[in-house]
Amino acid sequence: MNEKKVVIVGAGIVGLSTAYYLHKKGVGVTIIDNTDGTDNCSFGNAGYVSPSHIIPLSSPGIISQGLKWMLNPESPFYIKPRLERDLIKWGWLFKKAATEKRVDAAVPVLYELTVRSQKLYEEIMSQENIEAGYKKSGLLMICKTEEALHHEIELVNLAKSLGLEANTLTREDIERMEPEVEYDMTGGVFFGCDAVMTPDVFMKEFRKKLIADGINIEYNTSLQKIVHQGSSIDRIITDKGEFKADDYVIAAGSWTPELLKQVRVDIPLQAGKGYSLTVPDPVVMPRLPSILAEGKIATTPMMHGLRFAGTMEIAGTQLDINQRRVDGIVKAVKDFMPQFRDQDFSLIKEWAGLRPCTPDGLPYIGRTKRYKNLLVGTGHAMLGLTLGPITGHLLTQEIVGDQPDYSSQLLEVERYA
Ligand SMILES: Cc1cc2nc3c(=O)[nH]c(=O)nc-3n(C[C@H](O)[C@H](O)[C@H](O)COP(=O)(O)OP(=O)(O)OC[C@H]3O[C@@H](n4cnc5c(N)ncnc54)[C@H](O)[C@@H]3O)c2cc1C
Repeated sequence: MNEKKVVIVGAGIVGLSTAYYLHKKGVGVTIIDNTDGTDNCSFGNAGYVSPSHIIPLSSPGIISQGLKWMLNPESPFYIKPRLERDLIKWGWLFKKAATEKRVDAAVPVLYELTVRSQKLYEEIMSQENIEAGYKKSGLLMICKTEEALHHEIELVNLAKSLGLEANTLTREDIERMEPEVEYDMTGGVFFGCDAVMTPDVFMKEFRKKLIADGINIEYNTSLQKIVHQGSSIDRIITDKGEFKADDYVIAAGSWTPELLKQVRVDIPLQAGKGYSLTVPDPVVMPRLPSILAEGKIATTPMMHGLRFAGTMEIAGTQLDINQRRVDGIVKAVKDFMPQFRDQDFSLIKEWAGLRPCTPDGLPYIGRTKRYKNLLVGTGHAMLGLTLGPITGHLLTQEIVGDQPDYSSQLLEVERYA
């Protein structure tokens, strides 16, 4: 039995996974979260558990492509111009990271983390009997143009070189795989290595399991102040009182940098807002999840409907809906999947979530150097659902003093300090 007590801030997939592994080691865990526990970025996302997503967002070509997209209010990517020091610094670091050399260094790290995390999900699902539609179904990339197909084939070659299952498909191949769905496409590729689930169902079931195990989750409780004495965190103050522990984990997604600022831990991070629309009874239900490549739209058959998710809008931490971006998703879906019409979406409530995006596309995972009992787990951007379990596992090893079974300097929390 471990005598340690840990407070985790944030009940997204990272916070819940960390609590799960700490509890298994006998650590006493309290999670605090400022929501009622029914929604955050970990609920309404596209549900992919994706080793194929090994190229970080900051990659060669993204700046020129991004500048073109910026001019179109319905495009998949947008940065709201703001004269803010944090955004300017993040943009500068993002540009610096978008080189072949930096991407070549990031790919093996993302490969290790995604593959390991997928295995951890499989263990959790079977050991805890969680039914959340988890399936290693693979993921289709549907390409309209030769140019997009060419780009995806390069990714297939990279994935294959790492031992991941991936292959190129003709238009006819896809028509055989999806006989009911009409796609306006040239062809596509298939990543057999990817899995999918219904994330909101998983989050509810996982939370139920943690509560049944005796983990204390304080919802509607907001972290306001982190109090330190020298190089140690002494306590945290919330709107519902103080919490004291041996170690503190900040896993507050896109809000983490603001919380850490008060103890002078600087992690460049911007919220990348995305939207999803879940159609409960779609005109056609694809067999497989897919990404509509040029539109950057994820389409995922889920337990309660077909979910379309997309856009990346760097515009601060507000969750308000930008209707032009949502319209852009619907337009792209109709363009790629002509069986869908405007009326299929007219009664659907939009969901918005904030991806915590680092400049180099790699998360911050580990103990801070400035404080011996402060740990951070955030910055997973488009891969946060995928990487929740491995992040919780690695943070747990760090807290209980186990030999880490994976580490990389590229994940260090203060790498930009
Ligand atoms: C449209 C879209 C599609 C996506 N699709 C995928 C996908 O297919 N696969 C994938 O792997 N990832 C996907 N992602 C990314 C993924 O959803 C996120 O990276 C992930 O959910 C982040 O999890 P988290 O635990 O870090 O943060 P969150 O889920 O945001 O949880 C953080 C929690 O901390 C709480 N908090 C913040 N401040 C405080 C405070 N002061 N006090 C207390 N609590 C606080 C928040 O309210 C929140 O509940 C997608 C994201 C979007 C937007």
